[in-house]
Amino acid sequence: MDEDDRPLFHEEHRLFRRQVRAFLAKEIVPHHPQWERDGIVPRDLWRKAGRAGLLCPTVSEEDGGPGGDALHSAVVIEELARIAASGPGFWIHSEMVAPYVSNFGNSQQKARWLPKLVSGEAIGAVAMTEPDAGSDLRGMKTRAVRRDGGWLLKGQKVFISNGQLADVVVVAAKTAQSTESNSISLFLVDAASPGFHRGRNLEKIGAHAQDTSELFFEDVLVSHDALLGEEGAGFRQLMKGLARERLSIAISCQAKAQFAFDQTVGYAQTRRLFGGKLIDLQNTRFRLADVKTELVVGRSFVDDMLRRYLEGHLDGNTAAIAKLWTTEMLGRVVDTCLQLHGGWGYMTEYPIARAYIDARVERIAGGASEVMREIIGKTLP
Ligand SMILES: Cc1cc2nc3c(=O)[nH]c(=O)nc-3n(C[C@H](O)[C@H](O)[C@H](O)COP(=O)(O)OP(=O)(O)OC[C@H]3O[C@@H](n4cnc5c(N)ncnc54)[C@H](O)[C@@H]3O)c2cc1C
Repeated sequence: MDEDDRPLFHEEHRLFRRQVRAFLAKEIVPHHPQWERDGIVPRDLWRKAGRAGLLCPTVSEEDGGPGGDALHSAVVIEELARIAASGPGFWIHSEMVAPYVSNFGNSQQKARWLPKLVSGEAIGAVAMTEPDAGSDLRGMKTRAVRRDGGWLLKGQKVFISNGQLADVVVVAAKTAQSTESNSISLFLVDAASPGFHRGRNLEKIGAHAQDTSELFFEDVLVSHDALLGEEGAGFRQLMKGLARERLSIAISCQAKAQFAFDQTVGYAQTRRLFGGKLIDLQNTRFRLADVKTELVVGRSFVDDMLRRYLEGHLDGNTAAIAKLWTTEMLGRVVDTCLQLHGGWGYMTEYPIARAYIDARVERIAGGASEVMREIIGKTLP
């Protein structure tokens, strides 16, 4: 389906898409191979993206943002997928960090961070996962203890996207010694705080332009103002944030699958074998017909999820269904598409090879498929 034919999107979104597309073509596409080698994108890109209106589309005008809606967010996510950008981590910044501040921050926290997140002066990250606690967040060990003047944070996080660049980190920490859901609180930690250290930019099998870090909190003293929302509300806040995160992943995976399909159709139209073209073999057409069918089904499913979100009733269970189905679908699609490229599909100079590798994390990050099945399974009678 042509992007311009999607009934959910209006003229303003179509115009925005064209602006985003032009920005990415100029500011990301030519540099992306170098950033993949560097393992990170330059900070300057964030400021340019901020100036071009790509960051935090849904932050209200009152809070210093552009006042767009989830469809503007979807446009940025989809266009990044359309060029197979493995970095920058705009969506974590825009779809996770900024909403945490908008939804749960007090007026001082909003005034301090939102305008800078919108302009790209400050880069955001979310730190939940620890070396021994990912799916089982209640098992986290990072603690925040009340002290005169604020909270003392001690612990370690891992796999944190944007961790090398982040100026502000939404940190999940235990504020009570239990595994009850009210034992976790969220903090907005300024990366300039004494005791905050960045560890390695971890070497991954894919998503090479995206920095992914260890973070260390060695008795980081933050003021009372760093607590985001109420003490003990962290788990509830994370669940709300995760619904949006999972919708964003679903939007991205749908667009990434479309990218893999487009690449493969193009390849099959030019690849010659047995005196004809790859696209003319019945097997190729059948396999691509299956992929196209998944894409058409997925498009209407993802747009329905977006509509639910816009109307304010995308619940956590439905977001889990969206994450599970689209990430598994992307896995099937990139595998089929790589196969149709033959040996060239295994060569990283071909976009499908990178798409295949980059897709693998989607079934893990943001909640593994098994966790999604647990969530969905709990709704069964
Ligand atoms: C590239 C990348 C970027 C990431 N970015 C961030 C980030 O920015 N911020 C952040 O906080 N985290 C981030 N993560 C962490 C990510 O969310 C976790 O890796 C994920 O939630 C899984 O946690 P884990 O790695 O600890 O695996 P574990 O929790 O140890 O799970 C191992 C495996 O156990 C299985 N499993 C888990 N739970 C169940 C269950 N209930 N039933 C059956 N099987 C189960 C699954 O197969 C799972 O994959 C990122 C991870 C990666 C790889």
